[in-house]
Amino acid sequence: MKITIVGAGIAGLSSAWSLTKAGHAVTMIEQGRTIPNPLAASGDHHRIIRRAYGKAGGYADAISEAYDAWQSLWLDIGAAHLDARGIICISREAGDEAEEFREGLEQGGYPLELYDAREAARRYAYLDEGTFRYAFFSPEGGALHCKRIAADIARWLRAHGTTILEDTKVVGVDSEAGSVSLADGTVIAADKVIVTAGAWVLKLFPHLATTLTTYRTALVYLDPPADLKAAWESSPVILDVGGRTDGYIIPASGGGGLKFGTGLHKRKTPDADLDRIPARGEGEAIRDRFSPPMKRLGEYKITDVVTCAYTFTDDKRFFATEMDKCLVVSACSGHGYKFGAAVGRRVAQFLADGNTASLERWLKAEAA
Ligand SMILES: Cc1cc2nc3c(=O)[nH]c(=O)nc-3n(C[C@H](O)[C@H](O)[C@H](O)COP(=O)(O)OP(=O)(O)OC[C@H]3O[C@@H](n4cnc5c(N)ncnc54)[C@H](O)[C@@H]3O)c2cc1C
Repeated sequence: MKITIVGAGIAGLSSAWSLTKAGHAVTMIEQGRTIPNPLAASGDHHRIIRRAYGKAGGYADAISEAYDAWQSLWLDIGAAHLDARGIICISREAGDEAEEFREGLEQGGYPLELYDAREAARRYAYLDEGTFRYAFFSPEGGALHCKRIAADIARWLRAHGTTILEDTKVVGVDSEAGSVSLADGTVIAADKVIVTAGAWVLKLFPHLATTLTTYRTALVYLDPPADLKAAWESSPVILDVGGRTDGYIIPASGGGGLKFGTGLHKRKTPDADLDRIPARGEGEAIRDRFSPPMKRLGEYKITDVVTCAYTFTDDKRFFATEMDKCLVVSACSGHGYKFGAAVGRRVAQFLADGNTASLERWLKAEAA
């Protein structure tokens, strides 16, 4: 089959990888000047992979498939871009998200180590001992190195005959005809069009705004005080800092620095291209949300602040919809990267069996 893929984030790249392996003639079109596009959700340095999933237990079970798909990708590209340093969560209030993550792991029978506040502060010197209840470590998880993954998949695709058009924007999709139009008027026809346009999908299909909402957020990269550097270097990824901060931290890894991000900082945006220059003081505002449970945050120097745009569904589950010859896939809601390679394999399976219901069930983690 002749297949056009719109968007070279992780969903598009991994779909191209799986479909090229299955023998299809794939053309991938990316509006950014480079792959990855630094403005894309998949264009940052690192993203978290973890078993802990709290109430959304189906995704915890699906992590085994995610790991299996990454393993298969590592074999093809000849490098493993996963820093498997494990994750920790820090609980500050009864019933906070960190506690939900612990309960989810315990219910699933997955291993974890529980530390009281004193032991946690001894192990992780950046924590402020008097400000939290307990912490736990889950060995399953770590940081995926997104820029390296994207560069290596693109290299593999080129070596296997896939056409990649960078700096090329799709301005329209004709689902019935199976064609896409480019800004210069060129029309590219195919048997199937896969749209993995991330936060830009509503520009191509405005009617999907009933299901998908676009948000803008920012992340801060930090240089910790000299005496805490060693603690950060050996630290697991922090999946949740407890309380209501909705905060996570990825230590320096795979070329990316120490990064703090919080769901509290995201806001709705009408357009993924708007508001992409960080505001004055935005980095400090994000950093300072992490006290408690972090200590001495004022001593952490801000090295960079980056903005991101992404879509969410109401229930934070992933989404796909088929329109004639077009399939739109959105595995995001702020947690889809870890499933990236598995999404590509599932899209290729869908093209082989045409079973949309099965793809949708898997994306919603309703079936393993
Ligand atoms: C701040 C933040 C933190 C996150 N943390 C995690 C995490 O820790 N773990 C995790 O698993 N997930 C995480 N996620 C979610 C994860 O990043 C996304 O699920 C994933 O990157 C989405 O990939 P995608 O390919 O669907 O979209 P994107 O990466 O956005 O890719 C879409 C691509 O399509 C291109 N494109 C769009 N429109 C067009 C067009 N018309 N023509 C040509 N090209 C086009 C874009 O330029 C872009 O490159 C996070 C997301 C954000 C924003």
